[in-house]
Amino acid sequence: MKSTNCIFANAGVTVFETMSQLAMATGAINLGQGFPDQLGPEKLRHVAAAAALDGPSQYPPMMGLPELRQAVAAHNKRFYGLDVDWQTEVLITSGATEALTDCMLALIEPGDEVVLIEPLYDCYLPMVKRAGAIPKLVRMAPPGWHLDLQALANAFSDKTKLILLNSPHNPAAKVFTAEELQAISDLLIQYDAYAVCDEVYEHITYDGRAHTPLMTLPGMRERSIRIGSAGKTFSMTAWKVGYLTAPSHLLSPISKAHQYVTFTTPRNFQAAVAVGLNQDDTYFHNLAVDLQAKRDRISDGLSAAGFDILPTDGTYFMSVDIRSVGFDGDDVAFCEMIARDAGVAGIPLSAFYQDGAVNHFVRFCFSKQNEVLDEAAKKLKAFFKPSP
Ligand code: PMP
Ligand code: GLN
Repeated sequence: MKSTNCIFANAGVTVFETMSQLAMATGAINLGQGFPDQLGPEKLRHVAAAAALDGPSQYPPMMGLPELRQAVAAHNKRFYGLDVDWQTEVLITSGATEALTDCMLALIEPGDEVVLIEPLYDCYLPMVKRAGAIPKLVRMAPPGWHLDLQALANAFSDKTKLILLNSPHNPAAKVFTAEELQAISDLLIQYDAYAVCDEVYEHITYDGRAHTPLMTLPGMRERSIRIGSAGKTFSMTAWKVGYLTAPSHLLSPISKAHQYVTFTTPRNFQAAVAVGLNQDDTYFHNLAVDLQAKRDRISDGLSAAGFDILPTDGTYFMSVDIRSVGFDGDDVAFCEMIARDAGVAGIPLSAFYQDGAVNHFVRFCFSKQNEVLDEAAKKLKAFFKPSP
């Protein structure tokens, strides 16, 4: 039989699904795949339920419900001072994943180069390659996650179509600095390239750090696409509502990709997310405050279990160095061991790299109930530091 497309034929099952399956099979506490263990804001669930009951039950507009596009534009203004035309500059997608896919399909011509920063969120590389681009990888490595600005500059060329930038960064938990954002924007102007900015953790930053969209830097409004996700901002990953903001000359082709990929997104969830984005500042403030307390809690717990932990400036992920508990195998073996023998699942960071060179760090998701975090820490401590 004829072969199928090699990018997907050769892809394994994504590490998030694999580790969730392992957690289920072993009964381990799942701190692997990133998702909160709560139902999400009750008010939004009521709106979604009422909209599902009352209808309409037919296709919403292709670009998204007007009330949600207006809410996205207002959110851009309130938090970042961006003036956005909701009719021509906002698109609603089925999660950030679809928004990213639409961007790759709409912006890339075969042979274009795309700059990507390792560690890489799972869908970036396959989708960039499937769109026909040549990936140019720049590496950040733990524990410092330093972005080498010279290496970044070397990755750009006249063939660069765009950079895919994730800040706050999963899994590095790094918030890119003003200097780094400036360096990126200088290169985008120099090479006349675009930025696809995955900002799904925009409201999850700690210790007073503010998230700065690249789009707010001088010269970037016309070159940047900003992507958010209700899954992260409202702790409801199952809802799969994404929102994309871009200048109209970029939104127009991206919306054409969207119309052929999904065309639209469930109406009732869109209606609820509009209510969510219009909530007052307290909601967004509390999201980060609550998660910061969880960050500190898991940090104490992992330290007590003997781990050297990496800083978490944003997102709900914390990584540890597995050598600090005396493990000398690789991160995949470590994750299999702790799921099976300690009863806790994590994600090996090697999954976010192409060549396996970074293989002794593991990521834990801490957007969980306090009791779950405490229980996971207790299990890890009992395993690595058993009391005599
Ligand atoms: N980008 C990053 C960096 C993520 O962590 C996630 C979370 N799953 C996504 C994109 C996808 O978001 P969504 O679930 O809205 O598709
Ligand atoms: N973003 C989530 C994580 O990093 C996983 C999302 C998914 O499984 N597709 O764990």
